[in-house]
Amino acid sequence: MISTTHLNTTKDKKTKIIATLGPASSTREILTAMVREGVDVFRINFSHADYTIVEEQIRLIRSINNELSTSVSILADLQGPKLRIGSVAPGSILSSGDILTFSNIPIEGNSQQVFMTYKQFPQDVKVGENILIDDGKLVLNVIETNGLDTVKAVTIQGGPLQSKKGVNLPNTKVSLPALTEKDIADVKFILGLDVDWIALSFVRTPQDIFELKQMISNALGDDEFHPPIIAKIEKPEAIENIDAILDACDAVMVARGDLGVEIPMDSVPAIQKTIVEKARRKAKPVIIATQMMESMIVNLTPSRAEVNDVANSVLDGTDAVMLSGETSVGAHPVEVIQAMSKIIKNIENSDFYINKNTIIDQKFNIESDRFVTNRICLAAVRFGKSTAIKAIATLTHSGYTAFQIASHRPNSEIIVFSANKKVLTMLNLVWGVHAFYYNEKASTDVTIIQVNDMMQEKGIIKPGDFVINLNATPADEGGKTNTLRLTKI
Ligand code: PGA
Ligand code: MN
Repeated sequence: MISTTHLNTTKDKKTKIIATLGPASSTREILTAMVREGVDVFRINFSHADYTIVEEQIRLIRSINNELSTSVSILADLQGPKLRIGSVAPGSILSSGDILTFSNIPIEGNSQQVFMTYKQFPQDVKVGENILIDDGKLVLNVIETNGLDTVKAVTIQGGPLQSKKGVNLPNTKVSLPALTEKDIADVKFILGLDVDWIALSFVRTPQDIFELKQMISNALGDDEFHPPIIAKIEKPEAIENIDAILDACDAVMVARGDLGVEIPMDSVPAIQKTIVEKARRKAKPVIIATQMMESMIVNLTPSRAEVNDVANSVLDGTDAVMLSGETSVGAHPVEVIQAMSKIIKNIENSDFYINKNTIIDQKFNIESDRFVTNRICLAAVRFGKSTAIKAIATLTHSGYTAFQIASHRPNSEIIVFSANKKVLTMLNLVWGVHAFYYNEKASTDVTIIQVNDMMQEKGIIKPGDFVINLNATPADEGGKTNTLRLTKI
């Protein structure tokens, strides 16, 4: 019933690959090839999404999952409070020293004046703050605001001023809500579809996450599956509030594209490493994003620096690496997945990685109602690191134990069984996790025999292998994971 082909292609790769959808990755043929080469999650970027196309993309991916017996996950990425300038007459250039006037009135821009989509800009901005346009290619400094509808700024670093380019205000306390009108409409649309994760851009505080979670609860009620939330870390405020944001969200993304504009780009590498470590300590999955294989938008091979960037992100301990333009508009959407999978497998199979990939100490709270489960998951991983344990198998309804086990980066396979079909695809983003459907309500003894048989049928384990089964006993009480059993197959 379940083919094992996808396991043979993905089994060796623990770090997951997220690929952004776009015109370059829109046909069934290309998407299927990308999945076969190692895509685990497809991202839909709502900054550019057309609802009709999104519905079709989701149908296609679910149908490919059925055909290949895969659990490829779908991530809907909300634009958040992203600022832009309006349209600009072609050929407009800013030179250093030029004064540019930002207006609330939707005029066509030129090298003297431009429309800014952010209405509160003249109230929020202060003289001396920087305005960055087009991923920081243009840098201006505010010299005057009338506090109403007009801001004047002097050009520090010039260049072509082009229509609809993004604006970053790293020093300004932007008073826009976390969820714009567009985001609210997008969330309503997304909740009517079958998506596994929702990402929020430009998160500043934990309240931003609570707001989105509240909206999801109001729309879906308590019984339905709630897509978990990824906080995109791309603002200096988010770095300041990182601990509280990590507690509030379900996963984080180091969104290096905007982050490297909002803060000096040379400080991003240390921040990447810090966030990965903090996220793992709290068992929250973490994604490294942007420009990982940028040169493959055009070329058939990555640069040496890109190969190192992907491998080093794996070494940092990330759950997933993400591709943007490489797969949405690039010339080689399949080859880039193939190249990235090879880099990941190579570093993961190196002695250097296996020796370095140690457990990060978590602070266990003995008062927490998850204490027993958390300790059992860690015990299983420690056991697997000191003894050749082929697989750690667990049953889960929410995915909780899978997040816990994965956060310790075991050398054993992480095999998850769930009766909750939504959880199977959701977990596909998490480091090392393979999830399968299982809905028998049997005694613990029978369950262990059945799941171990299933793992054998799928070729994950073979006679002579050691397996750890994590369970909640007694099985019929639906309690929390509290039992570790070691079996020789
Ligand atoms: P984006 O987010 O591609 O949606 O802008 C990622 C980033 O900023 O790095
Ligand atoms: Mn971004």
